Formats: sequence, structure tokens, C-alpha cells
Amino acid sequence: MSRVIDTDVLVVGGGGAGFRAAIGARMKDVRVMLLSKGPLARCGATPMAGADFTLDGNSMSKIPGLKGDPNDSPEKVLNDIVTQG
Ligand SMILES: Cc1cc2nc3c(=O)[nH]c(=O)nc-3n(C[C@H](O)[C@H](O)[C@H](O)COP(=O)(O)OP(=O)(O)OC[C@H]3O[C@@H](n4cnc5c(N)ncnc54)[C@H](O)[C@@H]3O)c2cc1C
Repeated sequence: MSRVIDTDVLVVGGGGAGFRAAIGARMKDVRVMLLSKGPLARCGATPMAGADFTLDGNSMSKIPGLKGDPNDSPEKVLNDIVTQG
């Protein structure tokens, strides 16, 4: 049996990325549906994430107490992640 559901935005995946996309879309005042293969917040990589966070050296250098590298940039970090991925 099939069922037709009408929505403005369909988000596929119930991990952190999907949740954030759904929240962002909802804040634009559109109807959002989130579709996930596994139970929300109980599947995928998101529940396993530790406490690490990635930040570019330039942004880090602006945080008091952290050294960072003013020559780094968010674009360089993204390029590193994509290249390594
Ligand atoms: C052990 C571990 C530790 C980590 N530690 C950190 C950390 O300290 N700091 C950090 O920043 N990152 C960490 N990460 C990485 C981080 O957890 C992931 O990059 C992030 O959670 C990915 O989020 P996501 O929403 O893209 O994917 P996921 O959380 O994997 O979500 C994918 C979603 O898609 C759904 N799905 C899959 N296929 C389908 C389909 N066909 N149809 C519908 N839904 C589907 C799944 O059910 C799931 O809900 C860690 C990862 C692991 C495994």
C-alpha cells in the first residue's frame, strides 16, 4: 500500500546533518519531512561522535589562549577534508 505525503523539503537521513538541514529548512517557514532508515538519534555515526571538533587555524588564532595559524582558512580545511575523504 502506498501513501502520498506532500512536503516542501524532504531531508533524507536522521543523523546530525539531516537534523540540522531539517531545522534550517523549517526556519525558512516551509513544510519539512525527515526520512531516516534507522531510528532518529540512534543510528548512523552521530551517536558515536566524541568531543572533538575541527576548526581552521585562522579562526583558532582568534580564540584567547589558543595558538592557531593565521595563514590557515576554512577553505583550506575543507579542501583537506575533501582530499582525505
Ligand atoms: C566512533 C566515531 C567517533 C567520532 N567522533 C567524532 C568527534 O569527536 N567529532 C566529530 O566532529 N565527529 C566525530 N565523528 C564523525 C561524526 O560522527 C560524523 O561525521 C557525523 O556524525 C556524520 O553525520 P551525518 O548526519 O552526516 O551521518 P550519520 O549520523 O551517519 O547519519 C546518516 C543517517 O542517514 C540514514 N540513512 C542511511 N541510509 C539511508 C537511506 N537509504 N534512506 C534513509 N536514511 C538513510 C541513517 O539511518 C542515519 O540516520 C565520529 C564518528 C565515529 C564513527
